[in-house]
Amino acid sequence: MRKKIVAGNWKMNMDVQGTENLLNALKSESLAADVTVMVAPTFVNLSAAKQQLSETEVEVIAQNMHFAESGAYTGEISAAMLQAIGIKTVILGHSERRSYFGETDEILEKKVSQAIDKGLQVMFCFGEELADRKSGAHFNVVASQLKNALFALPKTAWSQIILAYEPVWAIGTGETASAEQAQDMHAFIRKTISEAYDATTAEQLSILYGGSVKPGNAQEIFSKPDVDGGLIGGAALVASDFAAIVNAFN
Ligand code: PEP
Repeated sequence: MRKKIVAGNWKMNMDVQGTENLLNALKSESLAADVTVMVAPTFVNLSAAKQQLSETEVEVIAQNMHFAESGAYTGEISAAMLQAIGIKTVILGHSERRSYFGETDEILEKKVSQAIDKGLQVMFCFGEELADRKSGAHFNVVASQLKNALFALPKTAWSQIILAYEPVWAIGTGETASAEQAQDMHAFIRKTISEAYDATTAEQLSILYGGSVKPGNAQEIFSKPDVDGGLIGGAALVASDFAAIVNAFN
């Protein structure tokens, strides 16, 4: 059985007090026990968030990390630093990292490989731009993002990978891929992994959808057979909305 996962990417939102308030609000919600719930506050609030959630099943995850072990990389955070505070999962490849911070497939390959070597679980984000979708290139773009960043990994590494398909045109725009568009792409992704590795690896992989998921559309999207949950931006900042999304599986 594949894991159902809902993760909240808080991006550069919530200071220390905001983090505490939002987590308290989340703790007062009831969350489906069969869904793995994750939240990704900013780096400076990871330790406090971990402590605050220590008696819950909610996992605190990081939004990013650097590919180097350590050294002269001002402003960056290493895998070992995350692990030292008990973080087990890191988001890599978010479209905002790609577009605002110049993260290429080549950089992402190094980040993924470092995270995997260090024993972290990676939530790898990817997805096409609007122009790719309009020109019909979306399947090719997604296949090459996966191939370039991930396909040098050995088969054994895939137990540490979660995929998050996030069409860039649907992130923070209020524009959601239809449940059918999401299913078509997720089925394609699973087939691509199956061809590159094998059917079991593909079958066991959780593939999340991200892009303007809200309480009102989560149920339909999550009902699709190849959609195993969601990566949530804006709606993760409102505890009741995030909880409604966690509880939206049939
Ligand atoms: C995201 O940034 O990963 C995301 C899916 O954002 P939103 O839900 O706000 O579209």
